[in-house]
Amino acid sequence: MLHAITFDLDDTLWDNAGVMERTEHGHYRWLREALAAWREARGEPPLAPGLPGYEDSLADYVARRRRLAREVPERRGDFTWLRLRALEEQLEAGGLNRSAALMWAAAAMNEFHRLRLKVTPHPEADALLETLGRRYRLAAITNGNIRLARQPLAHHFPVAIAAGELFTPKPHPQAFLTALSRLDAAPERALHVGDSWEEDILPARELGMHAAWVAERHDRPLPAGVARIAHVKELPELLQWLENRS
Ligand SMILES: [Mg+2]
Repeated sequence: MLHAITFDLDDTLWDNAGVMERTEHGHYRWLREALAAWREARGEPPLAPGLPGYEDSLADYVARRRRLAREVPERRGDFTWLRLRALEEQLEAGGLNRSAALMWAAAAMNEFHRLRLKVTPHPEADALLETLGRRYRLAAITNGNIRLARQPLAHHFPVAIAAGELFTPKPHPQAFLTALSRLDAAPERALHVGDSWEEDILPARELGMHAAWVAERHDRPLPAGVARIAHVKELPELLQWLENRS
């Protein structure tokens, strides 16, 4: 009955909260320290003039990202672009010339992507995907800006889609439609697995896909076609139930 399974990544196949926290601070501290060392080597003051202390400076970076997402709505889900532009702006506002600002913003984003990849998949995920991959076509669909080809479970996904970089972050249906088309699967023969009610479950249901909502607590009535699992490791039981029913 089912032909394909699409997976959200963050908070579905690994816990992401700690990763984002470490990545956010990690790349920004790296930038400030590396930039200070570079300026010191050139006999310049440790920070670009105008950059305030760490907390204020980080808050300014966040505010610039939010403003850019409002000003350039088609890029609102492309978090790499928003970060890069915000850093370039902030560094220029802090007194770096344009070429130095571009260079340091790009270097900080390299560090961002290095740290962003340090996710630890749930211990069951690798074997689960290995088994499912023998029977179903698998895809990853994420709004996050982890490097899809380099994430630790990448080899399980013949199709992987960064929805934000398509300019159509979930809940927009485009990423789901693209995945289904590349998997050659009709929506009614596909299951989407994700933790977000708004970004995973509602759009999948609207397209007529089955949906598995990864949620520890059950606080809303589930429409037909939606099942809840507390953890992705419960997926095989759900699949068996779905297959037996058909
Ligand atoms: Mg998620």
